[in-house]
This record gives sequence, C-alpha cells and structure tokens, in this order.
Amino acid sequence: MDKQWNYRYYSVVCTVRNIIERINIDEICHTDYVLAPHTSFGVGGPAQLCIRPRNKSELVHVIHILNDMNIHPIILGGGANVLIPDAGVRSTVLMTDLVSGIKSEKGSVTAFAGTLISDVSVFAAEQSLSGLEFIYKMPGTVGGAVWMNARCYGSSIADVLDWIEYCDEQGRTKRIAAGDAEFGYKDSIFQHRQWIITECGFVLKKGDPSAIRGVMEENAGDRNVKGHFSFPCAGSVFKNDRKFGKPSGAIIDECGLKGTRIGGAQVAPYHGNIIINTGTATAEDIYRLVVHVQEKVYERTGHVLDPEIILVKTEDAS
Ligand SMILES: Cc1cc2nc3c(=O)[nH]c(=O)nc-3n(C[C@H](O)[C@H](O)[C@H](O)COP(=O)(O)OP(=O)(O)OC[C@H]3O[C@@H](n4cnc5c(N)ncnc54)[C@H](O)[C@@H]3O)c2cc1C
Repeated sequence: MDKQWNYRYYSVVCTVRNIIERINIDEICHTDYVLAPHTSFGVGGPAQLCIRPRNKSELVHVIHILNDMNIHPIILGGGANVLIPDAGVRSTVLMTDLVSGIKSEKGSVTAFAGTLISDVSVFAAEQSLSGLEFIYKMPGTVGGAVWMNARCYGSSIADVLDWIEYCDEQGRTKRIAAGDAEFGYKDSIFQHRQWIITECGFVLKKGDPSAIRGVMEENAGDRNVKGHFSFPCAGSVFKNDRKFGKPSGAIIDECGLKGTRIGGAQVAPYHGNIIINTGTATAEDIYRLVVHVQEKVYERTGHVLDPEIILVKTEDAS
C-alpha cells in the first residue's frame, strides 16, 4: 500500500516538474498553492500546481503546453462561483485573474478573460456606453461570467456579447459569434466543451452617462441591501427552475431553512439561496449544508434543487 502511494506521489511530483520545465516561466508556476484567498467563500486547500499567467500570450502559451501534455486544467477566474475542497486539488489549476485589460475600438469594448466583469461595466460607463449596467458589482471575471451566462436584474451577459475568443481542445485559438455560443439560462457552450475563454467583444449602445451611472448605483445598492457582501459567499447556491413556480430562495425560505447552520456555514438568515461562511466554515461544512438543503427541500416539496455553484473535486480534471 505504502509502495503504491509512494509511486503515485512520485509520478505526480514528476508531472508537476515536467510541466514547470516545459512552461519555462518560473514566476507563473506555483506549487502547493493555497486557493482559499482566491475564492469568494474564502475556503479551499492547495493546488498541487497553480499556473497564473500574467497576460494573454502567456495564457495561450500555457494552454498549448498543457494541451501537448494531455493535461486538462481546472480553470479558475475570480473564484466567485466555486467550492474548492479542503484537501485541495491534485490536478493543475490555471488561473486567469491576471490576464486582464479592456480596450475600446470604434465604439465597441473588448476585454481579456481575467478582467473583472464589474470593471468592464465601469469602463463602458466612462465611455457613455450602455448595456453592462446590470452586472456592475457582480464579483468574478469576464471568462466566468461568459461560462455561466451570468444574469441579474433581468439581463444576461449573452445579451451584450458580440464574440468570444477561446482556445479549443487542440489548443487552437478560435472565435465564436455570441449567437452560436448556445447560451441558455445559466448555460453556454463552454460548459460542454474543454474550451478556455481568452477574450470577448461586447455590443453596447451610446447612452446618457448619468442615466447609466444611476442604474449602476441602484443595482449596487440593491446588492448591499440584500446582504451580498455582508459575509463571504458565492451568490446564489441553486439555480431557479420555472417548473417550481417560485425562486429557489423562496422555496428554501418556506421550508424553514433560513439560518440553518453546519459548522461555520449557514444559510443566510437574510436570503434562502445564499450560504455564507460565518468566519470558521470549511469547504466540508459548506458542502454538507448544500446537500442538507437539497435533501430537506426534496423531502418537503419533491423539488430537486440544482446547484449553481461549481463543486470542484480533489481529483477533478487530469
Ligand atoms: C456576492 C456575490 C453575488 C453574485 N451575484 C451573482 C448574480 O447576480 N448573477 C450571477 O449569475 N452570478 C452571481 N454570482 C456568482 C458569480 O459572481 C458568477 O458566476 C461569476 O460569473 C463567476 O465568475 P468567476 O470568474 O469568479 O468564475 P469562477 O468561480 O472562477 O469559475 C466559475 C466557472 O467558470 C469557469 N471559467 C472561469 N473562467 C473561465 C475561462 N476563462 N474559460 C473557461 N472557463 C472558465 C470555471 O472553470 C468554473 O467552472 C455572485 C457571486 C457572489 C460572490
């Protein structure tokens, strides 16, 4: 048993060494890299190898090398919609958060995948461009928002996208028109392929700067009132389902689950569909609470709640 474990450990160490050698940019390769500070829940153990490119050309270089080695990394953007296990992840994590930058060309706006989506909203407002007000102050990156087709205040990111550039499973850089990206409710083609988003173009309209700012501030105020930023969390835990006739938060509330605690994790006393880290939560506490809420809602209503947050496994990817 010990022998087997040693062999496995040795082969993992060799793979990590090989990857770092092939990438050949030491500053962006981090071993045993703790992920908790890179997630909005503030929990999660280390990645055996975390690669954090600083610009798009480094990102594409890394994707090519990993692809060549047949390694499929876990992609982490802003970490605002993921639960990383306490034991960490044995696979390679590729973080995009430093691959950021926004440009304005002939009235349209483009942004790299790691740019905070809320920063794109601010940039557009500064150019008197309307369309991204709805997403102001939503945590996370452009890549994460596109992957999930993030939505709030009646709009989705798909409504304002022109094109998306990505690296496909062969590491080739390609561009897809937003209309072909199979966007649906909290869904996109990227959830069904091993494609890595690198850059996006937005279609925005000229607007009145003070009206644009007004909507942004109103939405930000609403998020504050709803307690989005009171405790570490990942926004809505479960997707809504029209078949249930009401939002998941209302169902959880009616099941009397608001305030339920497991360890340091709690269903927010102010919002049924948010689980908060009260300060001492482990990923295990949060995971057990997600399952507990699912089970209780099923027992009481027959509805199966579908998690929106991504539950990463220690052995995910390769
Ligand atoms: C306080 C709070 C409020 C929130 N409010 C909302 C809301 O109103 N509406 C909403 O929709 N969500 C909301 N969320 C959830 C979250 O903000 C969004 O899902 C956001 O889009 C996640 O982006 P991210 O960069 O953090 O993605 P991550 O959490 O890092 O990753 C999420 C998924 O996207 C994938 N991914 C990330 N980048 C790329 C890339 N470049 N290429 C391919 N795949 C990629 C990851 O692999 C992962 O599967 C909220 C979260 C918080 C903490």
